[in-house]
Amino acid sequence: MRQSLNLVVTAYETQQLPAFDEPQIALAGRSNVGKSTLINTLAGRRKLAKISSTPGKTRSVNFFQAQPSGLYLVDLPGYGYARRSKKERGHWGRLIERYLSNTPALRATALLIDSRHPPQTLDRDMAGFLMNQGIAIIPVFTKADKCKQNERAVRKREWQPLLPPDSNPVFFSGKTGLGREELWERLLSYTRETGEAQD
Ligand code: GDP
Repeated sequence: MRQSLNLVVTAYETQQLPAFDEPQIALAGRSNVGKSTLINTLAGRRKLAKISSTPGKTRSVNFFQAQPSGLYLVDLPGYGYARRSKKERGHWGRLIERYLSNTPALRATALLIDSRHPPQTLDRDMAGFLMNQGIAIIPVFTKADKCKQNERAVRKREWQPLLPPDSNPVFFSGKTGLGREELWERLLSYTRETGEAQD
């Protein structure tokens, strides 16, 4: 069934993180990876998540709820924005870490990776962190319209040893809509299972 998506809570501080019981899937990625575009594409609405002209602008954790499924998509602040102060980066780290390590309803994290580049350190670190925490990963290669078929195969091969076995990436484009239905299907599969990791 087609899902609508609405922003329910925005948390800037760890104390503001809500304790929802419904299944949650986090969306993580470097700033500028195309996360806002992906949320808007999933929602079928242009302006649900702000598309930031200044990378690194969004510092909050945004809880979007899908209906009728009840699933939460949790937009984490984009990482890797060099111009942030050390203090800001520390705050960011604590907020994300607290969310990822302290949310029993978290079923998986969609790790957004720019499909145009070979594996970058910060993305590898995030994948490693998630695996250490035992959090399932849905790898999502963004901006896939800018990446030819053979390049996509290369990305898949490069990432294979860096992700949990049998991780099946989704190639996604906000421009063409590629991967939209597939990603919804993958996200919603976590509302049907009983908590066992799939990816
Ligand atoms: P965020 O910082 O991760 O939220 O990234 P945005 O969604 O704001 O996108 C960053 C930039 O990448 C913007 O200029 C977007 O227009 C562009 N972009 C995002 N998704 C796509 C995509 O699927 N294809 C193309 N060609 N550009 C994209």
